[in-house]
Amino acid sequence: MTVAVHPLASPWGRFHLYSFFIDAPEPAIVDTGIASSPGEGMAPALEALGRRIEDVRWILLTHGHIDHIGGAHALWELTGRRAKVVIHEADAPMLRSRAAHVDEYASGRGRYLTDPEGATKVAGAGRVAISGEMEPAVLVRGGEALSLGGDVTVSVHHVPGHTPGSVAYVIDGQDDVFVGDAVQVHGAANGFPGFADPVAYRASLTKLRDGIRPRHLYLGHPYRTTDGTPYGVELDADQARAALDESLAIEARVSVAAHDCLCAGLHESDSPYSPFAPVADAVGYTGDPTLEPSPFFTSMHGYRTHLDLTS
Ligand SMILES: [Zn+2]
Repeated sequence: MTVAVHPLASPWGRFHLYSFFIDAPEPAIVDTGIASSPGEGMAPALEALGRRIEDVRWILLTHGHIDHIGGAHALWELTGRRAKVVIHEADAPMLRSRAAHVDEYASGRGRYLTDPEGATKVAGAGRVAISGEMEPAVLVRGGEALSLGGDVTVSVHHVPGHTPGSVAYVIDGQDDVFVGDAVQVHGAANGFPGFADPVAYRASLTKLRDGIRPRHLYLGHPYRTTDGTPYGVELDADQARAALDESLAIEARVSVAAHDCLCAGLHESDSPYSPFAPVADAVGYTGDPTLEPSPFFTSMHGYRTHLDLTS
């Protein structure tokens, strides 16, 4: 049987983040937006489709970022606590604890952002945007198959890079692939791709393009092409391949610039991109690198960490 997929949009500040409803015998929602998204966005959207939020049986989280897990507890409550919440074990701390989001900030991008209130702001966002701390029902590592009733199964693939525990969910047989933020292209609102581990990111993009080969690719945010045209969040096979090729090409350019900069030695300056100003110059990045979630500094710290580990 073919199952239908419906995007559910959740606005949050400068962002639109997207969840997806999988209309299986045991219905699933991929990613949950922020605390208000299930009640204010998903419930009426499902009602318009003739479906009820209390019937959702699976909450499939692509990764642990706040805009993807924030609504998980609220959605779980709306299902009468019957839906099973699924997340990769490496990102599960982000679901269990708001404090984990502050730790992630402080150990990565927060080392370069000079705002003295930065960690306090991340903690504040966590209080507002995360509906509750919770233990997932199912911890995955990649390689699992989840039964959504009837003959509908979803397989889980580990695609780390954007975060350590990023996964892709694939509706078996129809090759509909949900990747959250694992495919960044140019990045979403900030205009720069964000990945904690650049080497894993590259390997995951290659695995998606050459191994998983999506017939449809569903993204967590609408990304843009070089000329600023939005991709949308539902890509067909040709668009998916183009987005994966472009993501790989962009990472390759950023990688060269980052390695040049790191090998020359980091120098502080009054540039907002400091100490990675040469990278912004080399790739022509003119966005504001301080806007949360600051993918520029997340990715730069990723290259730096990788070089430290390999040198
Ligand atoms: Zn993310």
